[in-house]
Amino acid sequence: MRTRLDSEALPAVEVSFLRCGSISIPELIAVRGAFSLVPRVISHSAVLIRHPKALFLYDTGLCSDIDRYLVDQSLFFRKTLANFHLEQSLGSHLRERGVGRGELDFALLSHLHWDHVSGIPDIPGVSLRVNRVEYEAAKHGLLNAGNGLVRRLMSGNAIECFDCAGPTYEGFRSSLDLFGDGSIILVPLPGHTAGNTGMFINRSNGPRLFLLGDAVWVAENYKRPATMHPFIWSRVTSDDATARQTLIDLHRYALHHPKTPMIGMHDAASQEQFMKSEKYIEAARI
Ligand SMILES: [Zn+2]
Repeated sequence: MRTRLDSEALPAVEVSFLRCGSISIPELIAVRGAFSLVPRVISHSAVLIRHPKALFLYDTGLCSDIDRYLVDQSLFFRKTLANFHLEQSLGSHLRERGVGRGELDFALLSHLHWDHVSGIPDIPGVSLRVNRVEYEAAKHGLLNAGNGLVRRLMSGNAIECFDCAGPTYEGFRSSLDLFGDGSIILVPLPGHTAGNTGMFINRSNGPRLFLLGDAVWVAENYKRPATMHPFIWSRVTSDDATARQTLIDLHRYALHHPKTPMIGMHDAASQEQFMKSEKYIEAARI
């Protein structure tokens, strides 16, 4: 497939990370082999993407009453994977940015773990786009786990499945050109879940960006490459061998494209760095 990066031909696309919650963990939990207790911030974020053809989200962060959804979960779950500090709900972020009800065209979910669908109650009526591979696999597990937590969070919103059935793209096995203009390209990054989906954003008003869903937690996972600590990795990864291959694929991509920001949905440091560079580019334009 032709990789279209002629920035003159691409649309302007605004990208904003909306950080909804966070928790600090020692680096040795986030990166296997990093014998360091330096705190690393794991964020729960959505991404607001303003494209000429649609205003949409990649993942959804956390809704205002997420605690109510988690109250019936096990103490172990609430003290480990579901332990976070709610900073600002998705609904509050959208109001702050003047995004009114009915203005969002859709939310595209990187995958169907609870922490990526937890903002949905704040966007009632907004359709959800899900990789068909992910949705089919989730019917046999994720949707009903934890007393149907994910199903309850998604209920009420229509689901539209998509297929990454297009040609290879930048070395990744297949793709979907979302608007047919080369600007938003979805690629499968499987292993964390069956259908974890990454998103390239190619645009005229800034650098290319590569969103990774949960293929990594922090940049070191693809830079070394190294998984998270095996204790966490084994609990959050659906297919160990495939997830490791995805890390290697991302490592290879990063070697050839060192200037492309590659950002996981929990990687607070990379998200902050990106938002700073966006402000700098914006200021330079004015
Ligand atoms: Zn996650």
